[in-house]
Amino acid sequence: MMPETIKAVFFDMDGVLYDSMPNHEYTWKESFKTIGIDFPAEEAYMNEGRPGFSTIKYAFDKFLHRQATEEDIDKVYGEKTRLMKECPEAPILLGMKELLKYLNENGVKVFVVTGSKQPSLVDKLDAHFGVLKDNIVSGRDVKQGKPHPEPYLIALEKSGMKKDECMVVENAPLGVESAKAAGIYTIAVNTGKLNDQVLLDAGADKLFSNTQLLADELMKIEL
Ligand code: CA
Repeated sequence: MMPETIKAVFFDMDGVLYDSMPNHEYTWKESFKTIGIDFPAEEAYMNEGRPGFSTIKYAFDKFLHRQATEEDIDKVYGEKTRLMKECPEAPILLGMKELLKYLNENGVKVFVVTGSKQPSLVDKLDAHFGVLKDNIVSGRDVKQGKPHPEPYLIALEKSGMKKDECMVVENAPLGVESAKAAGIYTIAVNTGKLNDQVLLDAGADKLFSNTQLLADELMKIEL
């Protein structure tokens, strides 16, 4: 059930606020190529939300059938970070600027909960969406990343709200799992390349096929 009163909304960043997943898909593919892994696009979306090191460990297990060493992780992640800096700036997804403004103006607390440690977008959340540092939970703030519930539990604690006064907006199956494991109502928005069913199977309470539809619907809620 959707919360009756909404006092805080926790937004994932990549694929929810920014159309940044094409950059991640490309940089994962290219950085894995340097160590001989042909990383399928679908894997980039299935693993989205995990901390970088965790995705690298997963790929070594699955495609090279061995454990990634610290050196392997540094090499692949270093290359990914380097390539990300060369990528075009990810556009803001449709309706999201308006939605966050609407929530802010109506006294709903807005948090961004992202596995990302890459500063390129995290540093722009204030300028683009009016989200201050205190309201961001990034990859630097957690011991266990998504799909573990920790990131959303930290956001919940920071918000000072009860679980049933909050909701999460996610685009990735592991992100939905994380939010649901934290016990929070979760809306999925399918901005990527996976089937809707993957997000519903992960536990999403409601699903929108794009961010404009999501924004239109949430801006109808009386706050
Ligand atoms: Ca995401």
